[in-house]
Amino acid sequence: MSDTLLEVNHVKKYFNTPKGILHAVDDVTFSIDRGKTLGVVGESGCGKSTTGRVVLRLLEPTEGSIMLEGEDISKLKESQMRSKRKEMQMIFQDPLASLDPRKTVGQIIEEPLKIHKLIPSARDRQKRVLELMETVGLAQRYYSTYPHELDGGRRQRIGIARALSVKPKFIVCDEPVSALDVSIQAQILNLLEDLQKQMGLTYMFITHDLSVVHHFSDQIAVMYLGKIIEMASSDDLFAAPTHPYTQALLSAIPVPKLENRRERIILKGEITSPINLPKACRFASRCLYATERCLQGEPELKEIAPGHKVACFLKEN
Ligand code: SF4
Repeated sequence: MSDTLLEVNHVKKYFNTPKGILHAVDDVTFSIDRGKTLGVVGESGCGKSTTGRVVLRLLEPTEGSIMLEGEDISKLKESQMRSKRKEMQMIFQDPLASLDPRKTVGQIIEEPLKIHKLIPSARDRQKRVLELMETVGLAQRYYSTYPHELDGGRRQRIGIARALSVKPKFIVCDEPVSALDVSIQAQILNLLEDLQKQMGLTYMFITHDLSVVHHFSDQIAVMYLGKIIEMASSDDLFAAPTHPYTQALLSAIPVPKLENRRERIILKGEITSPINLPKACRFASRCLYATERCLQGEPELKEIAPGHKVACFLKEN
């Protein structure tokens, strides 16, 4: 039986701009089971990071509901949200930009414990911070060090320790390894995976790089211009990518074995503006298979096989 932790229903996030309404997130629906990972993939500007921020209510949704363990948090007042924030944390792409340069490693990890008044005694807080540093593989000698004195991998470990300090249930990981060297990326991904197993954490893992999420995610949602255009289990998506955009993303991943290589699909054409979108398939301007029909309406996300959904007229019957 599934145990749903997070349910996002028909969430929209629009921004008013001088040129019109920007559809950053446009009617997105998904759920994540407890202890599982949803990978959210797409090019920059597709709305994946905005979706993560809306789910955490760092941005207010324009429409839709966000259910955490059955409770609709999209309507909670800011004062009620404050205690919920303990349960929902975020790990950022650029650890240096997200860490206060005037604070030491110990002070940064301790901060959420103080804000949420979780451990009153300073001595007990320090003990907890040192435990957290050990959990994420940061040597205790870095306790009084400043973030700029450390490398990218260690800085990201600080960000992870800070997120874990309040014992969250759900973490949005927003491109957490994109700024790191490949060898360090693997270490951080392994750490996140180990922590998930130990603590039963649930992740929404946002990335522009499909290859990063393959083994890490249980489900993958591919976003394009504010919409989910394909969603499936990680294995199904890699075995049978169905939307022309997903096929193009997958074809760009280097594969060591010659027999497993896919023909590279180079996307041409302009990306449609997310402002004042026409009622057409958003991918039509770059799609190799676009027909008249694709310009006359917008395909809905429909199930084409158990657990595999695609938004493309070509796949409808
Ligand atoms: Fe391409 Fe048409 Fe499918 Fe859109 S609906 S992805 S334009 S074939």
